[in-house]
Amino acid sequence: MREVEIDLAALKANLKLIKAHAGVPVLAIVKADAYGHGLIPCATAAVEAGADYLGVALLEEAFALREAGIKAPILAWLNPPGLDYERAVAADIDLGVSSLEVFDEINAIDGARIHLKVETGMGRNGFSTEWSELMNRDLVKVVGVMTHLARADEPNEAQNNLQIENFNIRVNELKEKGISPIRHISNTAATLSNQSARFDMVRVGIAMYGLSPLNRDQSLQPVMKVRARLVLVKEMPANHPIGYGATAHTKSPTKIGIVGMGYADGIPRNANSGAGVTFNGQSAAIIGRVSMDQFAVDLGADSKAKTGDWVTVIGENYDAYSWADACQTIHYEITTRMAPRIKRNYKNK
Ligand SMILES: *Cc1c(COP(=O)(O)O)cnc(C)c1O
Repeated sequence: MREVEIDLAALKANLKLIKAHAGVPVLAIVKADAYGHGLIPCATAAVEAGADYLGVALLEEAFALREAGIKAPILAWLNPPGLDYERAVAADIDLGVSSLEVFDEINAIDGARIHLKVETGMGRNGFSTEWSELMNRDLVKVVGVMTHLARADEPNEAQNNLQIENFNIRVNELKEKGISPIRHISNTAATLSNQSARFDMVRVGIAMYGLSPLNRDQSLQPVMKVRARLVLVKEMPANHPIGYGATAHTKSPTKIGIVGMGYADGIPRNANSGAGVTFNGQSAAIIGRVSMDQFAVDLGADSKAKTGDWVTVIGENYDAYSWADACQTIHYEITTRMAPRIKRNYKNK
């Protein structure tokens, strides 16, 4: 009754495009179930398309990649103390480290490969005050150094250059210790907009899924398309309340379509009438509040849509950008929250 279609040919084309644009190796980010697109199929396609590294937030995501037989280098960077780092090192997983405690734990394991994450202005994870003490440790297992830009999607903000300067200070300190790790800062926004932030590798997530954090970039192809069936189409008189709280009423006699998806499926409850569905090329906007398993759209009095017809929820007239606007969020959240209970169909495997 609902379907998330994932076009792996589009994913590969996006990755090749961004790799050619960047001119440096690409770490393809597949965290959060590949932003809702499906971890293993997307990681496999990314490697086939030339990804040099795969990146995930969580160690369990990295283990899942290895269990699926994926051999590419993997970096997992959100690492609290006490995880099974022996197993991670045995599985050849590079580990991001932001604190001395975790550094010492991982550094004690033969064969560990560490990427130091440094605080440069994001105010999130990354070494800050512990850095000077870290510089007295044995650093031979450090193979990477990374940071994250807080405002890469605002390329003219001075904070970007400031963070790059702070990063270079840290890199130079490592160099003085005889360590020259892979340096990586750029997410998609920085990769697209800031040549001086590319360093030795870029970390690309959202662009691979066909969405730009900067603008509606037509050269990228959205990878996710969502369709659902109308579980009911019915005629309604003018001024009829629709949905919880009766927040909307029909303006004139019309046909209302009930779409079999709701906030349990990842359609945000606060979606307004800037979003909706496409039937036969025609837009039908959301009317009233989104419920747990369904939402209503105003098909218009002349619509040919019938109970049981398929409509496009994400794609065609309402893409992830318009859904994000209609929900006061970003498109990352729209694709990432698409619920696992909706079947993924992989096209062009
Ligand atoms: C998620 C993430 C990225 C990717 O960001 P995009 O905007 O999707 O390209 C890069 N680096 C880190 C550390 C991340 O957590």
